[in-house]
Amino acid sequence: MKRIIIAIDGHSACGKSTLAKGLAKSLHYAYLDTGAMYRAVTLYFLDHHIDYNDPAAVEAALQHIEIHFERIEGQNRTFLDGRDVERDIREMRVSEHVSPVSAISAVRRAMVQQQKTMGQRRGIVADGRDIGTVVFPDAELKIFLVADLDVRTSRRHLELAAKGIDAEWEDVKKNLLERDRIDSTRADSPLRQADDAVVIDNTLLSEEQQLEKALALAKERIG
Ligand code: C5P
Repeated sequence: MKRIIIAIDGHSACGKSTLAKGLAKSLHYAYLDTGAMYRAVTLYFLDHHIDYNDPAAVEAALQHIEIHFERIEGQNRTFLDGRDVERDIREMRVSEHVSPVSAISAVRRAMVQQQKTMGQRRGIVADGRDIGTVVFPDAELKIFLVADLDVRTSRRHLELAAKGIDAEWEDVKKNLLERDRIDSTRADSPLRQADDAVVIDNTLLSEEQQLEKALALAKERIG
């Protein structure tokens, strides 16, 4: 059977990873969480006290950063320099710095190169901000996910609580708005809907309903 690339883009916390994981599971495809990669780089900068406004320090640090994914007990886990950082990268201190870090061209170049390599064999579902526009412009299916801001805030707030991460609802909302602003207005690879993307608004959809819609589109493209 033909193996395709599915690119999912959208604003923060609009359900991209839930949909991507559901599609990957249903189609037996790999799941690529590109946001986790930018979060891992950010965690590295914070933990190593690297001033990300200093281009030379950023370039030097990027040489040392190794990111990979492992599936452990059915869960996708992000590893940074051999350490499982899946929980750490979701913390608010990382969320507060990840958008300025992601706006740095040297960081994007390094991540995009790795992402393109991961997609070479196709059979992959990737989510992020520039997947349909920059990373996989030739993806057979591009989805642009949309959801109401308060719904996104509540979903992310619940998700953090489930991971044992304490955060105020208002702070979560502010962070989503600020990341959306930076991600959409940066010079390098801003978040935008690809011309050939299908828009799905999941504000009023259950996880199962959004998966059903996307699966129908994927099966159409697989043929
Ligand atoms: O997907 P997630 O919300 O975890 O992504 C965290 C941040 O990483 C985003 O707010 C954005 O700044 C950055 N990002 C990006 N390009 C991607 C994926 C994420 O710039 N493809």
